[in-house]
Amino acid sequence: MIRIGITGAAGRMGRTLVEAVDEHPGATLGAAFERPGSSLVGVDIGELCGRGPAGICLQGSISDALDAFDVLIDFSSPEATAAAAELAARAGKALVIGTTGLDAAQQAAVERASATVPVCQAANFSTGVNLSLVLLETAARVLGDTVDIEILEAHHRHKRDAPSGTALAMGDVVAQALGRDLGSVAVYGREGQTGPRDRQTIGFATVRGGDIVGDHTVMFAADGERLEISHKASSRMAFARGAVRAAVWLAGRAPGRYGMREVLGL
Ligand code: NAD
Repeated sequence: MIRIGITGAAGRMGRTLVEAVDEHPGATLGAAFERPGSSLVGVDIGELCGRGPAGICLQGSISDALDAFDVLIDFSSPEATAAAAELAARAGKALVIGTTGLDAAQQAAVERASATVPVCQAANFSTGVNLSLVLLETAARVLGDTVDIEILEAHHRHKRDAPSGTALAMGDVVAQALGRDLGSVAVYGREGQTGPRDRQTIGFATVRGGDIVGDHTVMFAADGERLEISHKASSRMAFARGAVRAAVWLAGRAPGRYGMREVLGL
């Protein structure tokens, strides 16, 4: 049994992860962490999730419970992720990172941790999205410079970063397949007199509203036909199951950076 620690355990993803750990035959919940000073520290995580007492209370400090888990799953905030990565590396704990919107310094903390412990980081842990990345790579290679590529994404009103980490990961796969640098060719929204479209660009459009869990479409638009590859998540369990699967897969691996491609054997 792999013992899982969850950071951001009281959040939308954290609560879903509690359920996903519970249903996985090879995993058990070892510890649950929340923001230090949160009024939820000390509350039983099972009670909080409406699942009855779990016998595990939310804690404000990961370093106080290092003996209670083997793998740390982090869906919290970029600042918390960078701190968790440093702690996990020092304590020799494998790390699964789902938090998105990390800046360069926070991402560097994750890279440093991966020199010491195994780290699986993905902008999206769902099986369907990771399969779509493989399909996108093929589509980009076949269609090449004959199409205009646009990426559309929609999420719930609480999401803090835009475009989504998944949309950026999709853009990156497509750009790499075409030998382009996403940083140079990405166009984030359009307004006013934009002029004709440059075929080398990759456009992003973001929608925020209601309780949309996560929709992504990559459009390959040519003259006379259009290919669209879409994924729609209807429940956070799609991400949570993937993250728990990654945690169980990661336990005992050599230090390094892994992604869902390796976990799913794609
Ligand atoms: P949320 O705001 O509902 O939950 C985040 C939780 O983290 C909150 O409860 C917050 O109190 C807690 N937190 C903040 N600082 C902390 C700290 N220092 N220590 C411990 N806990 C801390 O957000 P959410 O919708 O659950 O999303 C969380 C992150 O996961 C976001 O970055 C989101 O984009 C990302 N996400 C990734 C995937 C994926 O598959 N990779 C899927 C969904 C969401």
